Amino acid sequence: SLTAGIVGLPNVGKSTLFNAITKAGALAANYPFATIDPNVGVVEVPDARLDKLTELVEPKKTVPTAFEFTDIAGIVKGASKGEGLGNKFLSHIREVDAICQVVRCFEDENITHVSGSVNPIDDIEVINLELILADMESVDKRLLRVGKMAKQKDKEALIEEPILVKLKDALEKEKPARSVDLSEDELKVVKGLHLLTIKPMLYVANVSEDEVADAANNKYVQQVREFAAAEGAQVITICAKIEEEISELDDEEKTMFLEELGIEESGLDQLIRASYDLLGLATYFTAGVQEVRAWTFRKGMKAPACAGVIHSDFERGFIRAETVAYEDLVEAGSMAAAKEAGKVRLEGKEYVVQDGDVMLFRFNV
Ligand code: GDP
Repeated sequence: SLTAGIVGLPNVGKSTLFNAITKAGALAANYPFATIDPNVGVVEVPDARLDKLTELVEPKKTVPTAFEFTDIAGIVKGASKGEGLGNKFLSHIREVDAICQVVRCFEDENITHVSGSVNPIDDIEVINLELILADMESVDKRLLRVGKMAKQKDKEALIEEPILVKLKDALEKEKPARSVDLSEDELKVVKGLHLLTIKPMLYVANVSEDEVADAANNKYVQQVREFAAAEGAQVITICAKIEEEISELDDEEKTMFLEELGIEESGLDQLIRASYDLLGLATYFTAGVQEVRAWTFRKGMKAPACAGVIHSDFERGFIRAETVAYEDLVEAGSMAAAKEAGKVRLEGKEYVVQDGDVMLFRFNV
C-alpha cells in the first residue's frame, strides 16, 4: 500500500507527531492489518460522508479506510555523503510514495535547535539539498552509462539521455526533480532511478501550543508558506504536542478539546487528508446492512481493479458494478429511492471509478 514518509531535522517534533499517529491508530482498532513495523503508523482517513452513509443505511458496523505513515528518522546535514545514518536514511525515503517534511516553527529555549536558532527556511534547505545531492549522484551515474550507449546509437539510450540531461540541469540549479516538466512516458523511463526529489512533498509547520489557533500570524509559518508557494507545495500547520495529547481522546472529547483551543480540525486529520490527496488517492464506499465501509483507490483506477482492493477474487471474477454517486444516494435518501430515480448505474470493466462512488460488485466465483 501507499505510504507517506515523515522526515525532518532532529528536534523538530517528528517523534511527537509520529507518536500521535500511532496512538490515534491504536484507538482505531478496526484494522486487521495493523502493522508490526514500529516505524509504520496506521491512521483512519476522516470522512464525513461515511457518517452520513451510516445514518442512511444503519449498518451493524462502519469501517473507515486507513492510511500509513512511515517515520524516517536520522537526516542531518551531510546525509548524502553518508553522515549520520546517511545512506540508510536515504534508502528509507526511496521506499515511500510521498514526503511530509516537519519544520520547526516553535521557539523553546529548553529544546536545542541543531543549527543554533529557529530558522525554518534554512532547515528546509538543508534537507532538500541532501535529497538533491543524492539524486544528482544517481543521475550522474546513470548519465555516464546511458551517454556511452547513446554514442553507439542504442535506441533506448537515445530516448533516455535527454531526459537525464533535463533532470541534471534542474538538480544543478538546486531544484527538485519534481519541478521538471516530464510527460508520463518520460517519467516511466526514469522510474527505475527511484529519485527522491521526484516524490511529492508537503511541509508540516510545527508551532507551539499557544500559537496554534493563530498560526497564520506566526512569522515562521509565513516564511514556510512563502517558500512552499514558490514550489507549488502545500503547508499544514500543527502543534505536534497537542496532537499527541488529543490522540488519546475519543471523538467527542476531541471535538470539545479542539473547540476550546479554537481549532476547527485537528492538524493530524488535515495532514492525513492532504497526504491522501498528494498521493492521488480517492475513496469509494460499499454500503450494505452488515457493513458500511470506505475503500482507498488510486484516481484513474477502473472498476475491476477497485473491486480487487476488497479481494482479488472480486477482480478476477468481475462482471459489473452497481454504482451510485454519493450525492445522488444522499439526495434520494435510500438505495431503493436512488434506483427508482434512475440514479443507480450498471458499470462495466472500463468504468473509471470516481471519488465518492457507492458500489456493489457483481462477480463470478
Ligand atoms: P524529533 O527529534 O524531530 O523527533 O523531535 P521530538 O518529537 O523528539 O521533539 C523534540 C522536543 O521538542 C521534545 O522535547 C518535544 O516535546 C518538543 N516538541 C515537539 N513538538 C512540540 C511543540 O509543538 N511545541 C513544543 N513546545 N515543544 C514541542
